[in-house]
Amino acid sequence: MNGKVYLVGAGPGNYKLITLRGLEAIKKADVILYDRLANSKLLKYAGKDAQLIYVGKAPNAHTYTQEEISKLILNKALEGKVVARLKGGDPFVFGRGGEEASLLAENGIEFEIVPGITSAISVPAYSGIPVTHRNVSSSFHVITGHEDPTKEDKSLDYEVLAKLKGTLIFLMGIKNIGDICNKLISNGQSPDRPVAVIRRGTTVEQRILKGTLKDIANRVKENNFKNPAIIIVGEVVNLADTLSWFDKKPLFGKKVLVTRTRQQASKLSEKIEELGGEAIEFPTIEIIENDKYDDMDRAINEIGKYRWIIFTSANGVKFFFKRLRELGSDVRALYNAMLCAIGPATAKALEDMGLRVDYVPKEYRAEAIVDSIKDKVQQGDKVLLPRADIARKVLVEELEELGAEVDNIPVYKTLIPDYDREELIRLIKENKIDVITFTSSSTVRNFYRVLGEENIDLINEIIVAAIGPITGQTARELGIKVDIIAREYNIPGLVNGILEYFNKWEEV
Ligand code: SAH
Repeated sequence: MNGKVYLVGAGPGNYKLITLRGLEAIKKADVILYDRLANSKLLKYAGKDAQLIYVGKAPNAHTYTQEEISKLILNKALEGKVVARLKGGDPFVFGRGGEEASLLAENGIEFEIVPGITSAISVPAYSGIPVTHRNVSSSFHVITGHEDPTKEDKSLDYEVLAKLKGTLIFLMGIKNIGDICNKLISNGQSPDRPVAVIRRGTTVEQRILKGTLKDIANRVKENNFKNPAIIIVGEVVNLADTLSWFDKKPLFGKKVLVTRTRQQASKLSEKIEELGGEAIEFPTIEIIENDKYDDMDRAINEIGKYRWIIFTSANGVKFFFKRLRELGSDVRALYNAMLCAIGPATAKALEDMGLRVDYVPKEYRAEAIVDSIKDKVQQGDKVLLPRADIARKVLVEELEELGAEVDNIPVYKTLIPDYDREELIRLIKENKIDVITFTSSSTVRNFYRVLGEENIDLINEIIVAAIGPITGQTARELGIKVDIIAREYNIPGLVNGILEYFNKWEEV
């Protein structure tokens, strides 16, 4: 049986600007073809066995022609695969979606067109430019700025275009911007008509350049403005002065590396993106269950003897209770113990299970836990610490000094995931990272190992933010300078630290 093809409009660059239908197609596809204009972050929604094929231009790699792409889609469908072909913006707006669909139609392959948000309207919107506006512009016109040079007779008639009073939006026009403006002027438009050129709109790299028909071409040259960019001609451009909003977000333009585990990254990434920045997830740590159960099982079987159970991470909570259930027990077994959590996220993990947490220290680190309970711990109290295999010793030592008997049990392990050192170095060298965040000492150490000692100087110019003093100290010991240390040792604290650094502090 033949497969099915979805030609999906993936939006203008910001990965959240895709439709629900488009996302559905990505989730169910066996094969996904994508190129530079479609944000590769969408790929994280792909099924785990989906085949991902990059068909865009890349240095040192084969560049697919349009014909090859169409054939590849066809062949995959003939193999019975569900194919999602992601296209920037809308597939039918200068997207050659029609050509891809024609080949499918000729061959009797089922296909669906998923419309997308075209850059023609969304890029102006993200710059505070409404393409129509009462009393200012009653129409908008989307025009190619890149006429096929092999064409004999030109399909665009600038005499007609120049008569239009509405907003003119040129795609693919940066190379020809001089000619475009000259033709509009020579056919009667005012040389003073406002023009904006917007590059990489809707993304963290969005830049706008404003001018008029007579001077914008020079300004584009002077500023070395490159593709992808749209040209927008019309009085609506002036509205950007009052309506711009995206570039006013506090972390606008900031690219922030997130080194936490893939599962945990999203909380930090969401906050960064909410504030207008871009989160680049590069997990340097992976957390897996500790499969040596002896110690844990012994502790769980005697759980009633512990007067204190101290959790130092949400992962500790997760893996401890998983094993508890596997052994046929549940939260009721803990009735005898006082529960402590290192901070609010860990406490929430416990509360989500219906448990009450007895102690959460004011400062979210190991030493502070001991302070918060030291008056209550009695000689001989048994304490259970379900933690990571690499957890620091200090908590155990301080509790023992109080006379407690501590069982420090690794319930999960941390690993360095399969990583791509070259990719990290490329991001750094191409200035794709403004801030590196570290949320634990292990993220620092693993980052150091991923990057390699010999490359550590590459990050000298990048701002480094640590979740707390211990993490900061680990970084400094490895020769990494630290610019930001969060005052509250959790994710909101880290984000606040970054905002404060850029003088953009607000409560998050
Ligand atoms: N189908 C796409 C357009 C593809 S043609 C759509 O509907 O948006 C490629 C052109 O789109 C680029 O040359 C540029 O003019 C424009 N473009 C696409 N994404 C853009 C972005 N994020 N910012 C500015 N221009 C963009």
